[in-house]
Amino acid sequence: MVLKLESGARLVVATHNPGKARELAEILDGRFQLVTAGELKLVEPEETETTFVGNALLKARAAAASSGLIAIADDSGLSVTALGGDPGVYSARWAGADKDFARAMQRVANRLGEEDALDFSAWFTCALAVAWPDGPAVVVEGRVDGTLAFPPRGTRGFGYDPIFQPYGHAETFGEMDPVQKDAISHRARAFAKLKAALL
Ligand code: IMP
Repeated sequence: MVLKLESGARLVVATHNPGKARELAEILDGRFQLVTAGELKLVEPEETETTFVGNALLKARAAAASSGLIAIADDSGLSVTALGGDPGVYSARWAGADKDFARAMQRVANRLGEEDALDFSAWFTCALAVAWPDGPAVVVEGRVDGTLAFPPRGTRGFGYDPIFQPYGHAETFGEMDPVQKDAISHRARAFAKLKAALL
């Protein structure tokens, strides 16, 4: 079966995170009529998988099944080489129920200190999944590599952006113009793959 997404289709963006919904909407660039899972008051499923791909599929499938619309979901996070890939799929959970990313970034710094780490390399991963209400789904993954910067710098972006400096750039994602971040981010790279597969 050939899966295609027609321009103008009504899509549910299966996230309750306003930062991610904004970035996905920018990347999708007015091609679709977007409605968010939050607006439809869909229940957010528990992220029980241990991979980005697994969690993105789980979220897209849950939103498609409960809304009857085609759904797009992302699962993303920061992986730190010296921490064996942590926080990884637990990136949001490291910020706790109150989503305190200052605390999550401090936890990364503390863990690196405990490990006497010399390697500050890290990467963001984004898995993007599209699921149809009648079952089929497509999933892709994008990644951006860089180095961790302490103390955090910049007030733009969200999550771990202030401590992530992509290779080849002097600014952290927290300092960078959002347009520039969207051009090189893990989410943009995943979307380029999705576009090649579906549009
Ligand atoms: P989830 O995909 O909802 O599990 O959440 C992923 C978490 O990873 C987010 O809450 C952020 O903390 C972090 N994250 C993912 N993408 C980015 C990004 O582009 N910048 C900063 N943090 C990110």
